[in-house]
Amino acid sequence: MTEEAPKFKLNDGNEIPSFGFGVFQIPADGSTYKAVSQALKDGYRHIDTAVAYFNEQEVGKAVRDSGIPRNQIWITSKMWLQDYAYEDANKSIDRTLKKLGLDYIDLYLIHQPYGKVDEAWQAMIEAQKAGKIRSIGVSNMTPKIWQKWADKGIFNKKMPAVNQVEFNPYFQQKELRQIMSQNHVTLEAWAPLGEGNHSLFAEPLLNNLAKKYGKDVGQIILRFEHQEGIIVFPKSIHEARIKSNLDIFDFELTSDEMDAIRKLDQGHGAHNPDAPGTGEMLLNAFDVHAND
Ligand code: NDP
Repeated sequence: MTEEAPKFKLNDGNEIPSFGFGVFQIPADGSTYKAVSQALKDGYRHIDTAVAYFNEQEVGKAVRDSGIPRNQIWITSKMWLQDYAYEDANKSIDRTLKKLGLDYIDLYLIHQPYGKVDEAWQAMIEAQKAGKIRSIGVSNMTPKIWQKWADKGIFNKKMPAVNQVEFNPYFQQKELRQIMSQNHVTLEAWAPLGEGNHSLFAEPLLNNLAKKYGKDVGQIILRFEHQEGIIVFPKSIHEARIKSNLDIFDFELTSDEMDAIRKLDQGHGAHNPDAPGTGEMLLNAFDVHAND
């Protein structure tokens, strides 16, 4: 087992493992159970799922079967767009608890920042008070979208603990990070490996660093992100990668190397949450209640 990932302290006082395992696009045909069980065995103590990944049930079963005490594993899930109306939001939280088969969720996020975000946020604040959720946060909030909801006053009721956004060496979210740090909101990276982007993995700088440290390019990317203070949860269905991705706690990039990787930033990602029509496109992408 590799060295344990350090924890980051959130603005609500909770401590989150800074390194986790993402399960987006892992099917619920036994594959999620297998991958999460493997990850837990290898030392991961943080799993990132969502209602819209349709695999909360297998995540919960893998956690329950792992034999690891519940309070040593951090579980994140996310409410889908369809459920933001207040009553639906309450039901979404209860449904996630039921699917996971757990008494509480460590972190629940507003998955996409469109529609009745204010009602969903209210329901999440109440569920947190009721002990169903330990930390609450948002996702895919760009500076513009963050400002919109801040202007409506929803963050005066409760500041999100995290904002989970696309982040990797090609999209380093410099403007957003400044706004988040002013509000003591921790950034979580989705697509920390650029979803396997070939040009990112072919970057000469990253390959040279991999050679220098006897690591692979994925490990260099994840180590960079970790040293930037970003929470990461790379996804893989391959045993060797599940193991190797976590093995980044025995070396350190120098400040010159960090600066050099910072220069790979292209200032935009694969997904633009500000693009007109994104909310409707996502809402129509699938129905999370199709199998209810
Ligand atoms: P990642 O950046 O984690 O990339 C995953 C891809 O990279 C997979 O195709 C995987 O392939 C491949 N991969 C994994 N490890 C390596 C490696 N060491 N070398 C080369 N390729 C590798 O993308 P994700 O989109 O999965 O993001 C991570 C997590 O973030 C998700 O699983 C999910 O939990 C969350 N997320 C949240 C979103 C949001 O809107 N809030 C949106 C998207 C993701 P293989 O499996 O074959 O190994």
